[in-house]
Amino acid sequence: MSSGVVFDIRKYSIHDGPGIRTAVFLKGCPLACWWCHNPESQSPEPEMIVRASRCIRCGACVAACPEDAITWPEKRPRMNADERGLIVSGDAGNDAPVTDWDRCERCGICADACFADARERIGREMTVDAVMAEVVRDVAFYDESGGGMTLSGGEPLAQWEFTLALLRACKARGIHTTLDTCGFASWSVLDQVRPYVDLFLYDLKLLDDVRHREVTGAPVGPILANLRALSERGHAIRLRVPVIPGINDDDDSIRHIAAFAASLPRLDGIDLLPYHAIAADKYARMNRPYRLADARPLSEERMAEIMEIVRGYGVLVKK
Ligand code: SF4
Ligand code: SF4
Repeated sequence: MSSGVVFDIRKYSIHDGPGIRTAVFLKGCPLACWWCHNPESQSPEPEMIVRASRCIRCGACVAACPEDAITWPEKRPRMNADERGLIVSGDAGNDAPVTDWDRCERCGICADACFADARERIGREMTVDAVMAEVVRDVAFYDESGGGMTLSGGEPLAQWEFTLALLRACKARGIHTTLDTCGFASWSVLDQVRPYVDLFLYDLKLLDDVRHREVTGAPVGPILANLRALSERGHAIRLRVPVIPGINDDDDSIRHIAAFAASLPRLDGIDLLPYHAIAADKYARMNRPYRLADARPLSEERMAEIMEIVRGYGVLVKK
């Protein structure tokens, strides 16, 4: 596929694989983890955010909208956007423009017109060529540092044809590729993509299927099967385990993950990612409930204990 919906492109990243990288975040994810740090990336479609508290009532959006979807409030009553999967936050009072989300085409023209940064379009359609133009710009940094391109999300395999095209384009230019994936995809998709992936950053949260379904919305079976299949075929894999209070920070959950990791024929280490609550504000801005509102980051001592548990299974712990 020659185009896809991109949520963000982060240059000079040092946290998304080896060296200095360009991280390309694709929109859409089949999971909905309670602790997701990028909830605005879950829907596959572009979305509009309105930060109504920033609005200065200038009316530029009203004039710019080609669909006549934004009006002053006396002309049209405020609509309930949340039920349509849109994102609205803050309270602009009664005199700010209101949006008819049934008319809105998510074109983003109003966001371009808004000087107050009160409107934003999340997700934009980009061609493979447009993404690659961004990626190749930093080839000198990749060569110097051992970096390259990382595809992340959302879940890159949710747009697997676009992902495949981007990976192929990188390999054709000799650029190192990393795929940051939750692993929830059909094997036939992974099998087509994997020849073009130099490193998998593979997320694993829990082994208990009932609990996994509860906190992510998806079964864990396909994730484990795909992970083992990649490992058996000799792929470079770093397991990424977010350690989430009340979800998988107990000894049993950690032991199950460590034992599974130790049973894989090839694994290049585990990253244990400590929970932090930075996403809580995002959920508030998006007017969505944050299921982990009461969770507190684990102490350094507890994280050290968890690392020792994993190391006890002979698995390399990288963080
Ligand atoms: S995204 Fe486009 S259609 Fe929707 S309100 Fe803004 S300008 Fe109008
Ligand atoms: S352009 Fe932005 S600041 Fe101006 S009225 Fe529209 S939302 Fe408010």
